Amino acid sequence: MRPKASRSRPTGPTVEISDARLVEVEGSRVRRALPRPRRRTVGAWCFVDHFGPSLVPAGKPGMDVGPHPHCGLATVTWLFDGRALHRDSTGCVQEIHPGQLNWMTAGHGISHAEEGRVSAHDERVHGVQMWVALPEATRHGPPRFDHHPSLPTVTRGGLDATLLVGRFDGAISPAQADTPLLGLDVRLEPGTHALPIPIAFETAIVVVEGAVEVEGHRITPGQLAYLGQGRDHIEVQAAERARFMFIGGPPLEEPLLMGWNFVVRTADELEAAFASWTADDGRFGQVHGARAARIDAPR
Ligand code: MN
Repeated sequence: MRPKASRSRPTGPTVEISDARLVEVEGSRVRRALPRPRRRTVGAWCFVDHFGPSLVPAGKPGMDVGPHPHCGLATVTWLFDGRALHRDSTGCVQEIHPGQLNWMTAGHGISHAEEGRVSAHDERVHGVQMWVALPEATRHGPPRFDHHPSLPTVTRGGLDATLLVGRFDGAISPAQADTPLLGLDVRLEPGTHALPIPIAFETAIVVVEGAVEVEGHRITPGQLAYLGQGRDHIEVQAAERARFMFIGGPPLEEPLLMGWNFVVRTADELEAAFASWTADDGRFGQVHGARAARIDAPR
C-alpha cells in the first residue's frame, strides 16, 4: 500500500461533505469515514470506521479480528448495540457494552484482538472504531489500556449526548487523551439544537442513524461532514430522530504518515513497524487466547 502523508490545512467555518469508503474488515462491511482523500484528519482524529447496524446470522461467528499491531495512535471503541471482547498484549481482557468506552494507547507498540460475538445470543452489531494520532511526547511511550464503564451525559431540550473524551457543556470525560480532543455520541429529537464548542477546534459529524442538517447541508449515514474551525457553536437541525458522532480538536501541527495499522512520521519508521510485526521481534508483544489467527502484515 502507498502511505500518504497528511498535513492539516486549517480552515475557517465550512461544511465539506465526503462519502465514506466502503471496505471489508474480516468479512464485514464498514463505512470508513476518515481518512478521505480531501480530509485526512479532524484534530488528532485520524480514522473513523462505522460498522452495522447488522445482524450476525445464527450459528455464524461474529466480526473476529485476530491479533494485529498498532503504534503511534490510540484506538477508541464505542458500541451502539451488541458486545465485543478486547484482548491485548498488556494482558488486558475486557468485554465492552454499549455506553462503555475502550481507549487503547498504543505508544511505541501494542497488539490486540477484537472478537464480535461474545456469546451465541449476541446477534446485533453496531458501533464505531476511531483512532487518535498520538503527539511526539507520547507516541514512543509504553502501551496502556483503559476501560471506562460509564461516561458523563449531557441532556438539554431534546439533545442527549454522551461525552467520550474532552469537555462539553460543563461535563468532563474521565478518558485520558494526550492532546485536547472532543468526542461525543449525540442523540437528537426533531428540532434545532446548538452544540457549544471551543472556537479553536475543527470538528466533524458522522451520522449513524437518521439524518441531520448543518447550514442547509443534509448529512446522512455513510458521510463525513467536516465543519472547519472558528465557530463557538454548531447549529444542527433534525427533521427526524437522529444520532451522530461529533469529533474535534485543534488542527494537528505535524504531518502524519499512516500505513496499515501504524501512524508514524517517516517512511523509515513505517518500514521498521512492518518489519517488527513480520519478524515478531517482541515490539508488539503477544496476545493470548484470541479466537482468530494472527493477521499478517500486507505487502
Ligand atoms: Mn486494532
